[in-house]
Amino acid sequence: METRPLRGKPVRDAVLTDLKNKINHESRPPGLAVVLAGDNPASAVYVRHKEKACREIGFHHVTHRFSSEVTQGEILSCIQQLNQDPLIDGVLVQLPLPDQLDQQEVLLAVDPQKDVDGFHPENLGLLVAGHPRFIPCTPKGILHLLQYYDISTPGQKVAVVGRSLIVGRPLAMLLSLKREDGNATVTLCHSRTRDLPAATRQADIVVAALGVPQALGREHVSEGAVVIDVGINRVEAPETKTGTRLVGDVNADELDGWVSAITPVPGGVGPMTIAMLLENTWEAMMFRSQAS
Ligand code: NDP
Repeated sequence: METRPLRGKPVRDAVLTDLKNKINHESRPPGLAVVLAGDNPASAVYVRHKEKACREIGFHHVTHRFSSEVTQGEILSCIQQLNQDPLIDGVLVQLPLPDQLDQQEVLLAVDPQKDVDGFHPENLGLLVAGHPRFIPCTPKGILHLLQYYDISTPGQKVAVVGRSLIVGRPLAMLLSLKREDGNATVTLCHSRTRDLPAATRQADIVVAALGVPQALGREHVSEGAVVIDVGINRVEAPETKTGTRLVGDVNADELDGWVSAITPVPGGVGPMTIAMLLENTWEAMMFRSQAS
């Protein structure tokens, strides 16, 4: 069987072009603020990518950088200022935060109307109620990708492996909602799932978001299924110039020729996440202008 690659870049480009056209008709660009604390190298890279995407399509963006010794009070007061700033529509706190900070309190401090990551309980509650306001970016990107490649979910069996707040849990909820991009029968798997291969082999669509490099192979996926590989893991690769390479949470070599479609790593789900962040920021600006 030929395995179709579900590349994220064309979808990302289409989303960004659409946003660029939309903001041409507005009196000001949407504004995104990122709060970055500490010196986690992966976080620094993600934030640079976000800044670059904002520049590319003309969004206003600011990044507030804090050392790893930052106090809870300093972070909270920064978020309060951003909540009040009329030129900022979206506020994002880059996770993980340094250990001394109370992450839950920080996330709760973000104005739910500017919570473009969708992690505030008010927004998660709206999602569960079936009326999402801001959908967390990675799950939203996966729905876009499925739609772009005409992979419909109504009536399909989907296994989501991983139940994090960022990916697995909101995605499982979205896919089970009574709407055209949902209506799936969802099994949410995690580290305590008994006989994971038996659970995932039942699925027409398998989503791997467990954070374990190349963990799922042929024994986990039925022939002809669709695989969405969310994983981004850097592993040693002495054969490459840098000595490392990125791999997903599935064994792509083993699944090539076995599944009908798969998202490559890198270049599958990854490019979608930032595009969705900008889309959420645009939507935040629209909500706020309608409310005022
Ligand atoms: P977390 O570590 O927060 O969650 C991992 C989940 O997988 C947990 O629910 C855990 O179960 C479950 N799990 C771990 N090991 C197993 C196992 N052996 N079998 C079954 N379930 C298991 O990860 P994230 O959700 O933050 O990230 C998942 C992956 O997605 C990572 O590779 C990450 O890098 C990537 N990612 C990619 C993004 C993108 O833009 N493409 C964005 C965000 C993440 P339990 O709850 O029981 O501990």
